[in-house]
Amino acid sequence: MADANGMLTRAVVGDARALRVDVRAIAEHGADLHGLTGDARAWFVDGLVCATLLSAYLDEGERLTMQVQASEPRFAFTADVSDTGGVRARLSPSDVRGAGHIQGIMLVLKSVVGREVYRGATEVDHPSFAEMLSGHLAQSSQTEARVRVEGGVGAFVERLPDGGDDDLGPVADAVLAGLDGQAFPLRWECSCSDERVLSMLAGLGAAELQAMIDEDHGAVVTCNFCTRAVTLSEDQLRGLL
Ligand SMILES: [Zn+2]
Repeated sequence: MADANGMLTRAVVGDARALRVDVRAIAEHGADLHGLTGDARAWFVDGLVCATLLSAYLDEGERLTMQVQASEPRFAFTADVSDTGGVRARLSPSDVRGAGHIQGIMLVLKSVVGREVYRGATEVDHPSFAEMLSGHLAQSSQTEARVRVEGGVGAFVERLPDGGDDDLGPVADAVLAGLDGQAFPLRWECSCSDERVLSMLAGLGAAELQAMIDEDHGAVVTCNFCTRAVTLSEDQLRGLL
C-alpha cells in the first residue's frame, strides 16, 4: 500500500483567506478499503475534500465529524478529522448510482474527547458537494466565500473582514491549482482500538454479553471505518460482566 497521506495548506491571497486540501491518496485508500465503485467512489472523494476543508480551524483536541444522509441518491457518508490531521471516512452502500444532484441532510459536529461542542445541520438540495459546503458555510458565516472541489483536491477562499471587492471566483480557481502557505500534513488514520470496542460492548448490558458467551463463545467486531476486525474471547467478554 502506498502511504495514504495528504496536505492542508493555509495562506492569505490578496483580500481573501485561502485553504487548499489535497486528499487524493487518502481518498483512494479509503475508497479501496470500502470497495467503492462508480458514483459511490466519486461522492466519497468529494465528501473527504469537504470534511478536510471544514477541519482547517480545529482547536487543540477537537475532532470534526461531517455526515451526509442523502435520500436522493440514497447513501450515508461520514468523515472524521482530528486536530492532528488523522482522517477516516465511510460511505454506504458501495454501489450508489446517481451523480449530479444530492438531496438530504448534512450534519457538521465538533467534539472534544467525545463531548459535542458544536452541531450544525443543513438541508441539502444541491448539484454537488462543493455547492452543499457553500450552502452550509453561507448559513454559518456572513462573509463572502467560494468553494471548489475537484478530483480529491479542494479550495476554499473567504473574503477578509476588511477585504476589497476582487472577484473571488478566479482566486478560488488559482488556489485549486496550487497554494504556497502554511502546510499541515493529513493522513488516513482510524481511532478504533481494542479498548474502545471493549467499552462499547460493556455498554450492551449483561444479558446481551451472556448470550455472546453462551451462543457465540466470543465476539468479532468489525470497525465501520477501517474494516479492522477485533476478535474477543469468552474470557474477555466475561471480564465485562
Ligand atoms: Zn477502525
